Parts: sequence; structure tokens; C-alpha cells
Amino acid sequence: MESDTVIRKAYAKINLGLDVIRRRPDGYHEVKMLMQTVGIYDELGFAKNPVPGIHIVTESQEVPVNEDNLIYQAAAAVMQQYSLKTGVTVCLKKNIPVAAGMAGGSADAAAVFHGLDALFGLGLSSEDKSKMGLRIGADVPYCIMGGTALAEGIGEKLTPLPSPPGCHIVIVKPDISVSTKWVYENLHADRLSWHPDIDGMVASLRQNDLPGITGRMGNVLETVTVPAYPVIAELKHKMLELGAENALMSGSGPTVFGIFADDRDARKAYNHLREIRLEKAIYLTELV
Ligand code: ATP
Repeated sequence: MESDTVIRKAYAKINLGLDVIRRRPDGYHEVKMLMQTVGIYDELGFAKNPVPGIHIVTESQEVPVNEDNLIYQAAAAVMQQYSLKTGVTVCLKKNIPVAAGMAGGSADAAAVFHGLDALFGLGLSSEDKSKMGLRIGADVPYCIMGGTALAEGIGEKLTPLPSPPGCHIVIVKPDISVSTKWVYENLHADRLSWHPDIDGMVASLRQNDLPGITGRMGNVLETVTVPAYPVIAELKHKMLELGAENALMSGSGPTVFGIFADDRDARKAYNHLREIRLEKAIYLTELV
């Protein structure tokens, strides 16, 4: 059924584990990542517009409103594939930190597939959305699905997993931006001396074993970002001092998250980290 307006949330992700297996001859990296949705989200409103085209409206100064925005690219893909002639307006309330390793752009693109599906009553299957999504970005199929998942291949081979036991997450985005492209270009995938035990994490998830998961957290992209941005190591260290089970950089960074088993420890860490002002943005949140 069609609707006049549709609102969708676009949830951010963290990587509980991120391994790079190899650089493929085509330049893409083969990865093995444990993805987890968290409770930070952008809000997207969709409405038909008699003026043809894709109109993006946002107060955020950090994202483009033209065809460089992944929202635009996702909307254009749907409109072309289903020959939609009416224009659309997409209003974006940006809460996910930008260029932070939390897949904000991919999450927005995923929300566009859900949103336009509902707005125009297209009846798209998850597979239809994923196929179009993968052309926009490797993380988009995961964002379409959400939850806890193992992502392999270039990120598109997804295995849904049970969510980790209840815990609390402090997320800090330092006041620097890191380009994903720069991180992968500077990664020496063939020279990594250590790989996180992603299979062990998957087994721990299946056993509902939080220490088994947190004890194996690791992200090989830290080999690039930590030497260049010492604030990442500093934040991880602080989180551990403040009682985190473990702390890690998410994706290509620079965002750092800490997992806390205890609600009061998480709140204390959140308050403390806010006071020392190492951050551009800080959140206390849960797994979704
Ligand atoms: P990932 O974790 O997938 O590497 P990220 O969190 O590092 O993603 P994004 O926030 O998705 O990075 O943004 C990366 C770049 O993409 C930004 O510099 C921004 O200009 C551009 N961009 C395009 N569309 C969007 C969008 N809807 N939201 C955020 N950034 C966008």
C-alpha cells in the first residue's frame, strides 16, 4: 500500500571484530567482520514531490545534499529500477557521527530502500533491496538487515547471528575524521602479524558468552589508525581503566566503543569521558 509520508530510522553499527583476509586483485579487500547494530540512529522522512528529482533536506553541514549523498544514490537506484516519475523529498536528521566508522551513510542508504518501498508500495523483497544496496556500498546489505551478523566477502555475504548478552556501550567519536579509503590504502593486509579470532567470537555468540566475545575483540585496521592518531589508543585505555570489558575502534575509525557488563560502570565512564573532552561526540547506548 502506498503512503503520503514515511519515516524510517537508520541505525549505526559497530564492529565487534574486524579482520582483513586479503587484498583482491581488483583492489577490494576480503573481510571477516562481526557487525552489531547500536541504538544511535538518523531519522529519515520521505514524501512524494510534484517536482521531479531527489530533494535532500538536512540541517547537517557535514553531508552533501547532491548526488554524492548515499541517500541520493539509493533513491536514484530505486526510481530508475521501478520507473518512478514522481519526485521525492528526503528529510534527514543526522545523529550518527560522519566519517566515523559507524556506517552512517550506508545506514541512510538502507533506510531509503525501506522508506521508498513503503512510500510507493513497491513490495520489494530483502533480496531486491540488498542487490541494489550492494551497488551503493559493501556495508549497505548489512544495514538493510541489521542486528548481529557475520559479514564476509567484501561485506556482502551475511550470516545472521544471535545477539550478544545484554550489555551497555559507551561510544566516543574523537574530534578527527578518518577516511575509509585512506585506511584501506595504508593497510598491509599481507603483513598482518595478528588476526582476531572471529570464529571464536561467533561460537561465543552462539553460547551467549559475553566474556568469550569481549575477550576476542580485535580490529586489524587499528594497525593503520592507532599510530597516526594516538587519541584512539588513549580512549581505549581510558575505557578499560573505567571498567570496560573491552574497548575497540569501530570500522575504519576513529570512533572507539567500550562494552560494559555493568550499567553503573557504563554511566560513570560516560560521565568521566565527557568531562575530559577528548571527544567530538559521546553516547551511552545499547545493542539493537
Ligand atoms: P563506514 O563505517 O561504512 O566506513 P563511515 O561511518 O566511516 O562509514 P560515513 O559517515 O558513512 O562514514 O561517511 C563517509 C563519507 O560519505 C562522508 O565524508 C560523507 O561526506 C559521505 N556521505 C555521503 N552520504 C552520506 C550520508 N547520508 N551520511 C553520511 N555521510 C555521507
